[in-house]
Amino acid sequence: MTRRKDLLSREPVPDIEGLSAPDTRRRARAVRSLCPCRGDWNTYGEHLQELKALQKDPEGLVRLNAVHVARDAFVGEIQEERRARSAEAAERRDRALSDRVRQARWRAAARRR
Ligand SMILES: [Zn+2]
Repeated sequence: MTRRKDLLSREPVPDIEGLSAPDTRRRARAVRSLCPCRGDWNTYGEHLQELKALQKDPEGLVRLNAVHVARDAFVGEIQEERRARSAEAAERRDRALSDRVRQARWRAAARRR
């Protein structure tokens, strides 16, 4: 376990240089290091073209990781859209509620007149 950690800690995260490394495992790990599931959407976006090209890498291990990254990006985008939509819906509900409160107050004031 410790050996694996040591091995990983030697490579920078995200490992940009690794994307063009001749070693298959390094390239595969580098692809994975840019996955947006790690929370870094900016770095992923900056290297999108390279990541797409690596989906056609001659090595299956690299392609597999490139597809994982594409899938996670897709799922992440859907989740982000859903979050934005539910935030909008909540805002609409709040607005509708405050409209109703305002109308009720206006009616109450009108009755007093
Ligand atoms: Zn991922």
